Amino acid sequence: MRLVVIIQCEDVVKRCSGFLCMRDFFDRAWKFEGYPQDTRCMSITCGGCCGNLLTPKLENLGMRLRKEGMTKDDVVIHFATCVCSDNSHRLPCPFLNRMKALLNRKGFTNIVLGTHISQKAQAKRDAGLYKQWEQQNPPDDSGGQSYTSKFAVSVSPVAVKQFVFSALDKSIVYR
Ligand code: SF4
Ligand code: SF4
Repeated sequence: MRLVVIIQCEDVVKRCSGFLCMRDFFDRAWKFEGYPQDTRCMSITCGGCCGNLLTPKLENLGMRLRKEGMTKDDVVIHFATCVCSDNSHRLPCPFLNRMKALLNRKGFTNIVLGTHISQKAQAKRDAGLYKQWEQQNPPDDSGGQSYTSKFAVSVSPVAVKQFVFSALDKSIVYR
């Protein structure tokens, strides 16, 4: 059993229900493509700038995982798109690398940048009003031990190997 944990911006969720993050998880769209149907999903917020309150939340999550017979390797953390991109809510989070380091310190090493892509925001990126995704999340961004494939950040061969598995005779790679 895998668990996707979406980390949303404390500021943004005061205005956003998180509907699109959840919709794209259930539709297995974009960054959620390929997750098996029995994958669970939950969301938390960062707790506010500068992300320090993630630490007790992650400790609580670790305790819950142990009680459920799961490990931290069963968890894939997705930073919500509004955390890692230029968007209508605000500029990208300046504490992203710090939060990635906190995750790593607490043993959560499977990290993905992004959840859903807004067509409106992408149009503004294409028009030069917002920075492009790749400019904000460059392939050499290694603030945490991240892994993914075509869209962003660095690839850890070990992490990729751990998360490649076969389902319905099809190889699926978490990203
Ligand atoms: S990525 Fe979009 S839907 Fe998800 S929390 Fe941020 S603003 Fe809301
Ligand atoms: S640390 Fe980043 S994600 Fe969290 S409230 Fe501040 S700007 Fe938002």
